[in-house]
Amino acid sequence: MKSVTILGSTGSIGKNTVDVIARFPDRFNVKALTGNKNIALLAQQAKELHAEIAVTADKALYGELKELLSGSGIRVEAGAEAVVAAAAEPADATMSSIVGSAGLLPTMAVIGRGGDLLLANKETLVCAGEIVMKAVKDKRISLIPVDSEHSAIFQTLEEKHRSAVDRILLTASGGPFRDKDAAFMENVTPEQAVAHPNWSMGAKISVDSATMMNKGLEIIEACHLFAFPADKIEVVVHPQSVVHSAVAYVDGSVLAHMGNPDMRTPIAYALGWPERIASPTKPLDLTAFSGLTFFHPDESRFPALRTAKAALKKGQTATDVMNAANEVAVGAFLNREIGFTDIVKTVDAVLEASDLSPVRTIDDVVAVDKQARERARAMIDERIKK
Ligand code: NAD
Ligand code: MG
Repeated sequence: MKSVTILGSTGSIGKNTVDVIARFPDRFNVKALTGNKNIALLAQQAKELHAEIAVTADKALYGELKELLSGSGIRVEAGAEAVVAAAAEPADATMSSIVGSAGLLPTMAVIGRGGDLLLANKETLVCAGEIVMKAVKDKRISLIPVDSEHSAIFQTLEEKHRSAVDRILLTASGGPFRDKDAAFMENVTPEQAVAHPNWSMGAKISVDSATMMNKGLEIIEACHLFAFPADKIEVVVHPQSVVHSAVAYVDGSVLAHMGNPDMRTPIAYALGWPERIASPTKPLDLTAFSGLTFFHPDESRFPALRTAKAALKKGQTATDVMNAANEVAVGAFLNREIGFTDIVKTVDAVLEASDLSPVRTIDDVVAVDKQARERARAMIDERIKK
């Protein structure tokens, strides 16, 4: 039996992870589940999977969660520190699928205590990639990427042929506004932005896909995960989302990973690792496609790609600031406080105004994140006043 903890079990990745685990009662048992506001779902999952511990990040919901789980024997905890404490409890594998930099400290707690780290929370690597990857190395942690592109690269990157890698082809669906012009994007609504053509995901990552900041975050994620420089990573827009990424070698071979777009595939890969287990993803029927298309991204319509590449060049402090400002700006857009194109403008303005001296510790990363959030918030308030 493999013991599993899911950080963020009530989210899109979390629910898909629960779905896969529930199909293998003889293979997995659940240590801890953590969520935030949706305690009804958290309690239901904890009962269904016979979890040992259920934690809500929201202290105010402790009583209600305790009530929902009374008589179940499941330990109930609440608060941000309790999420970190649950992450520190031993488990063979931990799905890190909290959204945003809120996932950083729980993920560091997992690295600190050992066991496999199944990483969906890309923001952890964007805000602290160097520190996180050093800790992963020092603690000899197996880090299995869950982001579909990075799972694809993980599966097609032949370690013994690392030096023969010519480039990594990071595919992107292009999001819902792939073919829209700049004028259209000025008036996009949150409903239009979260309606992704191929993937069903949480609101934040859906907006990131629409601005293509998601691909920017993923370039940074790939550089840290696979230790390749940014110039080895090429973004290719591929609207059908069948090729999840590929590795091109110097001899001309390109090893691509294909499958239907369903996160339960990379989740099952990570949960089963180093073995493969079945997932409920619909088998791929190549004959059902009349054509698979690929083209270069348009950075003038999707300036987030430029922003992310420039931040990556400047280093970890810049990517930390970029991530925090993006989280605040996406939240403000979803709240209808700013327009769609204001998201990246806000991120650029916060980066421009920030001191980018190096971060050395996780405490430094958290402090930079906090300051960038405050700065983004103040700029948004200023914009609203105008
Ligand atoms: P989501 O919004 O659906 O779920 C987020 C989860 O985090 C929920 O369980 C929520 O309760 C929890 N959470 C939110 N704020 C929290 C806080 N302050 N403290 C503790 N927990 C908190 O998000 P998602 O789409 O499942 O994405 C999760 C992560 O996985 C993100 O980093 C995203 O980029 C990454 N990812 C998601 C997908 C996808 O298909 N959804 C694909 C690739 C990568
Ligand atoms: Mg992805």
